[in-house]
Amino acid sequence: MTQFPQNATPSPASPGAGYITSLDVPAPTRPRRLAVLGATGSIGVSALRVAAEHPDKYAVTALAGATNVALLAEQAATFRPPVLAVLTDERADALRKRLPAGYAPDILVGPEGYAALAALPEADVVVSAIVGAAGLLPTLAAVAAGKVVALANKESLVLAGDLIRETARRTGAVILPVDSEHNALFQAMGGAGLPDLPLVERLVLTASGGPFRTRETGELAAVTPAMALDHPTWAMGPKISVDSATLMNKGLEVIEACRLYGLPVSMVDVVVHPQSIVHSLAQLHDGSLLAHLGPPDMRVAIAYCLGYPERLPLAVPRVDLVTLGSLTFEAPRHDAFPCLGLARDALAAGASHTVVLNAANEVAVALFLEGRLPFMGIASAIADALDAHAGQALPDAASIMDLDARVRRRTMEAAKPA
Ligand code: NAD
Ligand code: MG
Repeated sequence: MTQFPQNATPSPASPGAGYITSLDVPAPTRPRRLAVLGATGSIGVSALRVAAEHPDKYAVTALAGATNVALLAEQAATFRPPVLAVLTDERADALRKRLPAGYAPDILVGPEGYAALAALPEADVVVSAIVGAAGLLPTLAAVAAGKVVALANKESLVLAGDLIRETARRTGAVILPVDSEHNALFQAMGGAGLPDLPLVERLVLTASGGPFRTRETGELAAVTPAMALDHPTWAMGPKISVDSATLMNKGLEVIEACRLYGLPVSMVDVVVHPQSIVHSLAQLHDGSLLAHLGPPDMRVAIAYCLGYPERLPLAVPRVDLVTLGSLTFEAPRHDAFPCLGLARDALAAGASHTVVLNAANEVAVALFLEGRLPFMGIASAIADALDAHAGQALPDAASIMDLDARVRRRTMEAAKPA
């Protein structure tokens, strides 16, 4: 007997079960107007390459960067959006001076500016690609304004999955996952996988294993920032590159998957796949594995979100399976990469623990990049922060950001030489 017919609506096991938002994306009647947060970063640049490849489909209505004024000015001169945003008044002045004559966009400033940009009535799709917890408030502003959000900023879900879910339920906002693993699951399951979610036994996230996959555990003490930034398969910003080297990126992604699909941590596995061609898999209750394969190029996932539900042609390198020869899989090494286990434990412990995990990680990664903390000190700093946290209710964004700030201060203090 089939317990869950193909077209059955799942009966949610908890208020958080099922995909995080509806997928009710309005059919475009004109080119989709994009607002890009984190436009000058790795994901932002890739998103603009997708937009440039389909000028009939996309108009850029707003671009936000933080400090790279030269690149933002170049992007603005190309796409001519009416609204820009940067981190400070000084950067806004510097940006204005670099813009071409006759082009005078509004320049918004700081966190409030990013939030206003994310909620602009003129924007149809908001690309959320700021790195770290700084992406939360603009992402929440986009969700509160009922936008279609192409979400790269996984930290938003790590900090505030429930709040995003509740807010989207109220406003009709749609979250589409840019992160390649979650995008792969979304594609493999046919959209959110909502009708089929009860058929899913487990989700399997693939991990490249990072640059130190085969290193002896003892050798990791001597790892330098330059070594950690040299990722074997993906070109990414510095923070996520270090997260990939520690496997914290996969830990954050386990949390992201649970928050997106409303699943317990026991249903999300990780397998190391060094070629980064299989981007993740859903295992169904008949033993089937539904996977998404593709080149390790974020434009594939970004274009899928920007075009959704349409699939647009894309000029990315094609995977040649014969040249590749083999795809391999292995278990993650928890002894060498404790961050993955820390993330799983934090998720099981409660929502405030994932805020603590993320804040301690962001500080520890920054200290490592400045040469002030050894590579293995990242995991120890996070473990210390989690040990010191008893759990607390986080009813709103202010309480989340307050806990985030407290953990940052504490982690900085703890890292100071005695
Ligand atoms: P990046 O470091 O290359 O770019 C970060 C962007 O955020 C830049 O535009 C920067 O100006 C902006 N920014 C930084 N601090 C800011 C602040 N305080 N306020 C406003 N803007 C700020 O990072 P990235 O690799 O593009 O990653 C962006 C996000 O996407 C991260 O959450 C990351 O985990 C996620 N992601 C990235 C990739 C990838 O391939 N790069 C893949 C999956 C998910
Ligand atoms: Mg990823």
